Amino acid sequence: MFKRTVKSKVVCEGYGLHTGEFSRVTIHPGSEHDHILFAKKVGNVVRYVPLGIEKVKSTMFATSIGDDQFTVFTVEHLLSTLHGFGIDSAIIEIEGDEIPGGDGSASLFADAILDAGIYTLPVKKDFLTMDAGFTVEQNSGFIKYTPAAALIIDGIIDFSHPKILKQQYTYNNTPEQFHAGLARARTFGFLKDYNTMQSLGLAKGSSLENTVVLDENDVMNAEGLRFPDEFVRHKILDLLGDLYTIGGPIKGHITSFKSGHALNHLFVKKFVSQLEKQYVSEHPVLQPALVFTA
Ligand SMILES: [Zn+2]
Repeated sequence: MFKRTVKSKVVCEGYGLHTGEFSRVTIHPGSEHDHILFAKKVGNVVRYVPLGIEKVKSTMFATSIGDDQFTVFTVEHLLSTLHGFGIDSAIIEIEGDEIPGGDGSASLFADAILDAGIYTLPVKKDFLTMDAGFTVEQNSGFIKYTPAAALIIDGIIDFSHPKILKQQYTYNNTPEQFHAGLARARTFGFLKDYNTMQSLGLAKGSSLENTVVLDENDVMNAEGLRFPDEFVRHKILDLLGDLYTIGGPIKGHITSFKSGHALNHLFVKKFVSQLEKQYVSEHPVLQPALVFTA
C-alpha cells in the first residue's frame, strides 16, 4: 500500500449546506513527503493548517476545522472522499468559509477526483493501528474499535421514522466500495428540525436539491431515495470523513451504533489518546525511570 495523491489539480465549487454561500475548493497534488494540508488566504497571507485532531473546531451538525484565524465548515464529505480513495497527500486550497455541498453526498468530490485521476507515490503508506480494542458511548449511541488488518465499518442506525427504522451496512474501505456504496448517499434531515437549525444559523443552503428531507411519514424528495438504506450509508460516509481528522489512515474494525459528528469526535479523541499511550509503552526509553540523568 503506497501513498496516493491526485494526478492533476481538482476544482470543486458550489454553495455550502450550512452557510448557503458560494465557495471553491482546489485539491493540488502533494509530494511523497506531504500529508493533508489545508490552505486559505486570510487577508494577504496564505495560512496552512495540517489535518489533525487539534484542528477540529466544532462538531455541531457538521465538522469544522481551522485555527485561531479561520474556520472551514463542513469538511466531512470531502475528507471521507480522500479517506475512501486512499489519498493521503494533497494541499486543499479553500476560497470561502465552507466546503461546497454539491448534492449533499460526496459525488461532487468523488467524480472530480476520478476525472483527474489518482497518482501512486513511491513511498509506503503509514497506517495508524491499535493493539487493543475500546468503546466510546454517548447518549444511546456507541462506537467500538477492534484491531484488524484493514478498515471495516459496520454502521447501524435506529430511527422511529417509518422510512428509516433500523438499518445496517458493512463498509470495507476500498476506492471501489467507496465509489459504488457510499459516495452517492446524501445527507438527510427532518422537516420538524428545519426551523430550529435555521434559528441556529445552520442549514441556510439546504434544499430538496441537496438533502433528503423527511416529513412525518415520508421522504419529500420527488426522486425518492438512491438506496433503500441511503441513511445508514450516509452516516458511514460522515464517520469515514470524521475518522480522517486523526490525521491519516487507520486500520481496525469499527462498529457504530447511532453515530453522529459529536460521537465520532469523541471516538477520534479516544483513539489518539490510546495511540499515545501505546507509543509510550512501545518506546520505553521515553519512560522517566529510564532517562539518562548523569
Ligand atoms: Zn454528512
